[in-house]
Formats: sequence, structure tokens, C-alpha cells
Amino acid sequence: MINGKKIQDFLDGEAIEQGLDEVKRQCKIFLKKNTVPGVKPEKRKPVPKEWVAESYMELGGICPLCSLFMDLSDKKNPVVPDHIVPIIKGGKTEKRNIQASHMRCNAAKGDMDMNEWSKYKQTHKIGI
Ligand SMILES: [Zn+2]
Repeated sequence: MINGKKIQDFLDGEAIEQGLDEVKRQCKIFLKKNTVPGVKPEKRKPVPKEWVAESYMELGGICPLCSLFMDLSDKKNPVVPDHIVPIIKGGKTEKRNIQASHMRCNAAKGDMDMNEWSKYKQTHKIGI
């Protein structure tokens, strides 16, 4: 949540359908317009693939965001790294802040932390 707005409110409905590049493009615009006072987000760094692989193993292949299985061969909804504490909220790109997740879940979680996501998930009936 940034200035009372969620990235979901900002993204146009078709962005997620159109794919990750469009979501990323719109998120960039959103983040440029919305800053959190007092939080200096780190620059986005690439996440080592091993961290995602290790997290996937630890989770037993279950997405921590929707509790459904993550199919490594699903190219439409691949496994991607999720920042548990979002960078915009001061989270860092470090191993303990990274978990494997579905690309679509990750895009839907946006800048929410796990508490916000858990409430959002219940009201939007995700993974049920
Ligand atoms: Zn998921």
C-alpha cells in the first residue's frame, strides 16, 4: 500500500493478462509516482536462481502466496522470486527475504507484505 493506493488499483485490468513485461512497465510508472516517505528502496538487483531453487525445495513446491503447487514446466505462470518484505517497504534482495512464488501471485501481491497479502487473499478468495 502506497499513499493509500495499491499497485492493483493502479494496474489496468489487462496488464496481468498481457504478461509480466506490461505489469513491470506499469509498476515502474507507479513507483515513480508514489514514494513512501522515510523509506529509501534499494535498487532492484537480480536474484540468484539458486535462492529461488532452494526456496522452492524448502516449500516443497507449494507457492507460499496461494498454497497451490508450482509447476516448473508451466511457462505461462513460471516460478519467480518474491521479496517477502517488498523493496518499496525497505526489504532487501537477500536470501532470507526471497521466496519462490508463481509469477501471477507475485504480480498480484505487488507491494504488499505478507500480512496485507493474507488479508487480500482472503477477501479475493485466492488459492481456495
Ligand atoms: Zn501462487
